[in-house]
Amino acid sequence: MSLDCLFCKIVNREIPSEFLYEDDTYVVFKDIKPAAPVHLLLVPKKHIRCINDLTEEDRDILSGLFMVAKEMAKEQGVNESGYKLLFNVEKGGGQEIFHLHLHLIGGWKKN
Ligand code: 5GP
Ligand code: ZN
Repeated sequence: MSLDCLFCKIVNREIPSEFLYEDDTYVVFKDIKPAAPVHLLLVPKKHIRCINDLTEEDRDILSGLFMVAKEMAKEQGVNESGYKLLFNVEKGGGQEIFHLHLHLIGGWKKN
């Protein structure tokens, strides 16, 4: 845990947030500024700064994150219509919160 990390504070419930999913390893909550009708943040509880900081011991956390993504997409009803999974990496890649998280974005209107 990093003391001045916003997502650590959310994970530790120091900042109240509604979790759509929680287990021992992950939490999922809605993005405060959604870029689409469905915009979730899938967050490992462990403080990992970003993709560049992954270590061998994070292998299971990362692969499990995609299983959570699959389940959340289904729960949100976007699994068939389609969605995007996105990591922003470092400032130049659009990362603003330096606690690893996967964006799940979808729910656009069909044409
Ligand atoms: P990044 O740019 O780091 O990949 O994504 C950070 C995301 O966190 C942004 O989409 C931003 O809207 C969201 N965010 C920032 N602060 C908060 C907050 O306090 N609560 C929630 N739910 N989302 C936040
Ligand atoms: Zn953190």
